[in-house]
Amino acid sequence: MLSFVYQILPSRVIFGGGCLQKLPEEIARLGASRALVLSTPEQRQSGLDLVQKLGARAVGLFDRAVMHVPIETAQAAREEAKRLGADCCVAIGGGSTTGLAKAIALVSDLPILAVPTTYAGSEMTPIWGLTENGRKTTGRDPRVLPKTVLYDPCLTLTMPPMLSATSGMNSIAHCVEALYAQDANPVISMLAEDGIRALAESLPVVVQEPGNLEARAKALYGAWLGGVSLGAVGMALHHKLCHTLGGAFNLPHAETHTVVLPHAAAYNQPAAPEAMGRIARALGARSAAEGLYELAASLGAPLSLAALGMKEADLDKAAGIAAQNPYYNPRPVTREGIRTLLQNAFEGRRP
Ligand code: NAD
Repeated sequence: MLSFVYQILPSRVIFGGGCLQKLPEEIARLGASRALVLSTPEQRQSGLDLVQKLGARAVGLFDRAVMHVPIETAQAAREEAKRLGADCCVAIGGGSTTGLAKAIALVSDLPILAVPTTYAGSEMTPIWGLTENGRKTTGRDPRVLPKTVLYDPCLTLTMPPMLSATSGMNSIAHCVEALYAQDANPVISMLAEDGIRALAESLPVVVQEPGNLEARAKALYGAWLGGVSLGAVGMALHHKLCHTLGGAFNLPHAETHTVVLPHAAAYNQPAAPEAMGRIARALGARSAAEGLYELAASLGAPLSLAALGMKEADLDKAAGIAAQNPYYNPRPVTREGIRTLLQNAFEGRRP
């Protein structure tokens, strides 16, 4: 019988080409007037442009966001926010930049306005992450959920095709695991299925024609749904594996998601038939695992852990770490099962 818990996360979403123009009024809407803008070193120019656009509403730019939020970077950004008397943070960039804003909010309660430029989805979640001594710790805290998110597809036009492909597959992974989550609910499942459909239809166009704004908008819409799914329900084996591989073997985030996803889906296929049926339907494929593999292949994305620089000799260790702590997964997690999954992912076998 149908039974579930459904909780809405409070955030305001503005979506549309050119909507970045609304940033000043959105800052004012939060009662703020002293924004600290955050970016990666690579997106420094976007950060500077934003500071200029905001004029007196910006107090400065911190342009040192990097992947996985090292604690030293978080501390430096927190001190800068304090020194400048910032009363909000504007994060322009992907998951790394949003993650830095979250590290600030975690200790200061400063509201975040997120301007996503990838499909990672962090802007819709209350999940923070910090890396200290090579170990990444994550947690959930409502204080780090961005108050306002401006999704402007024009800002994604510069995303290189391969980052678009892998970041898009990362977002599809959020949707896939939401559909078989322990706390899945009908509303999030609808969003997740539509997110997969939007991304699967748009990513091939985005990769072929990175300047196609229509396709960019559809992909960003799918990424929003992926972010909502990730923020609303718990994830399972796939996310655990990617976390393990990223943390212990320093593999790149979005690429690792892309390679592992078809194999995680193949592993869970017998235990979650309804979810897998919905994923296959959204992909227009015969099965979820096949459809995910075909999509990644059609985008020209990496298909094997070997291609990401993983060493075959480390697969045993990875399987051991991933099987260590129990967590929910539709199909019971065994060390042997994970070891086989990892071998398939290492070789990039068609599931
Ligand atoms: P990223 O933020 O590290 O960006 C990758 C690179 O692409 C950076 O150099 C960035 O400046 C550049 N870039 C971003 N957008 C661009 C654009 N439009 N044009 C040109 N260059 C652009 O990558 P990501 O995949 O978005 O984020 C990965 C990080 O986010 C990981 O640390 C991951 O753990 C985290 N994450 C967290 C959550 C969460 O809910 N907390 C969710 C997803 C990802």
